[in-house]
Amino acid sequence: MWATFQLSSLPPKPNTRRFSNASQQSKQLCLPSSSLKPLSKNTNPQIQSLSKQGHLKQALYLLSHEPNPTQLTYELLILACSRCGSHSDAATLRRHLIDDGLDQDPFLATKLINMYSHFGSLEDARRVFDETREKTIFVWNALVRALALAGRGEEAMALYKEMSRAGVAFDRFTFPHVLKACVAPSSGSISLLMEGMGIHGHILRRGFESQVHVATTLVDLYAKFGCVSYARCVFDRMPQRNVVSWSAMIACYAKNNRPYEALELFHEMMTGNHDSDPTSVTMVSVLQACSALAALGQGKVIHAYILRRGLDSIISVTNALITMYVKCGSLELGRCIFYQMSERDVVSWNSMISGYGIHGFGREAIHVFEKMIDANISPSPVTFVSVLGACSHVGLVEEGKKLFESMLPKYSTVPHAEHYSCMVDLLGRAGQLDEAAKIVEMMRIEPGPTVWGSLLGACRIHGNIKLAERACQRLFELEPMNAGNYVLLADIYAGAKMWDDVSRVRKLLEAQGLRKVPGCSWIEVKKKVHSFVSVDEPNPQMEQLHALLVQLSTEMKDKGYVPETKVVLYDLDMNEKEQILLGHSEKLAVAFGLINTNHGETIRIMKNLRLCEDCHSVTKFISKFANREILVRDVNRFHHFRDGMCSCADYW
Ligand code: ZN
Ligand code: ZN
Repeated sequence: MWATFQLSSLPPKPNTRRFSNASQQSKQLCLPSSSLKPLSKNTNPQIQSLSKQGHLKQALYLLSHEPNPTQLTYELLILACSRCGSHSDAATLRRHLIDDGLDQDPFLATKLINMYSHFGSLEDARRVFDETREKTIFVWNALVRALALAGRGEEAMALYKEMSRAGVAFDRFTFPHVLKACVAPSSGSISLLMEGMGIHGHILRRGFESQVHVATTLVDLYAKFGCVSYARCVFDRMPQRNVVSWSAMIACYAKNNRPYEALELFHEMMTGNHDSDPTSVTMVSVLQACSALAALGQGKVIHAYILRRGLDSIISVTNALITMYVKCGSLELGRCIFYQMSERDVVSWNSMISGYGIHGFGREAIHVFEKMIDANISPSPVTFVSVLGACSHVGLVEEGKKLFESMLPKYSTVPHAEHYSCMVDLLGRAGQLDEAAKIVEMMRIEPGPTVWGSLLGACRIHGNIKLAERACQRLFELEPMNAGNYVLLADIYAGAKMWDDVSRVRKLLEAQGLRKVPGCSWIEVKKKVHSFVSVDEPNPQMEQLHALLVQLSTEMKDKGYVPETKVVLYDLDMNEKEQILLGHSEKLAVAFGLINTNHGETIRIMKNLRLCEDCHSVTKFISKFANREILVRDVNRFHHFRDGMCSCADYW
């Protein structure tokens, strides 16, 4: 469960000089002549000082008796109201502004829009905007920013177009705001990417791409939509970069499943001659990359750096550390950090619950969930995904059902598709396929691909062809381009030796121009990550690895090992199937670990897909033969192999 962080939470530093210029300019332009009259009793300094101290009520009281409030007085009052005022204070303030004839001051209008944006009252912000006749670029920018921050991407974009039509000259602050509208969490439609690209064109034509804030927001935009190479292109062209730009590019890699590049770029940031010290935001992305690679050694180095910089006091960093350790296979270290935290938020608890879950400690996960409730932390939807997932990994069917049923009445959390999918997975894995199918039928929302996918996965484990075909009928409609569904169905047919159907599904896959995602395994040896895809790839040790596997396989057969040839989706003879099995990436990674690590050292491997039955039983054998602990993280969970057994008890 990833600590949620946003680069957009690090806005560019406001240019104070710009505002003071604007303030002087608008003073000359807009202050009514009445303010030049001599004052009988000037309470402006008093109101200003009360506002600065946050005594808003007293300041407002004095304001009602001040005949000539100045622009500065109003500016400070608006700021104070933003900080500690209520909606009714804001309304009072606005009434005074109108009475004093300052409501047309564009500088104050900008401040008001910002205040209403802070309150989340977009309608009021819009009203101020509409009622201001003399609109400067700052007023336009303020409303674009307010809409972007509120996640109202389409409206922000419409306003930007209105600006364009009205012939307003954009400045360098317009673009980051309008681009942020495309990156807002609630927006994700591809049309916004197209809009964003259009704006990129405007930026290039107006020569704003060299502005660091503008370019950084472009990196964020492309990162959000997975256009990694576009993001990198913008990043490479930046004449100067600050820590926010570096962090944006690193996050882009980390979030788009390119952890290698994330770590490489971080290394470049640290070693190059750059004046940018990483921040907590940078470190969260870097830890995310270590987690994805299961690179425990590198993760520890990063942890040491975080301690040196004192960044461990930031809760998002600590949460990312917990996740890094549990995902790199060290549940113990993750636990240590969790229990040492002086303050925990819901993400910390979620990280620990899912940590226990993926390591196969379902009861402990439930226990942590109960402690979280005792600590008065309200569970989030993610909490339930974590705890139901934990139940599913070990088959705690009754406990999972109870938790699921308590979601709405006890915790006011409406179950989403993901929760239904967890339940289908829980019941399906445990062999209760009819119950699982019933859940799908009775769902209050339209079952999406995750739900049908869970059902299909369960059908694969239990070889239920009829239900698998039903699930696939929907899946092929819902996500025709997901190769995994075709492969799973072919897998189920192969298990039943229905070779005609296997080839029919394979043709369907090819007709869509899709390919099976190749299995890939990683192993970290001496803080370097080595990856394996197949025996045909160039690796100086490949021959040696293959020879070792052949030798082990022969020895294992004497001890009763029978290759699980049913996992091979081709109608080949036994010998050919065995050869294919020997070339599975995780076996190569295990062999590489045996050769390149010291005796007694735990071998840690990561696999991008589910661990196959044959690799599972071979790894069990090897753990006994070679007397080694082997830790494998597959796409769902961890398997701790020791002395011929696996922690999952063959339930995965
Ligand atoms: Zn395998
Ligand atoms: Zn296992």
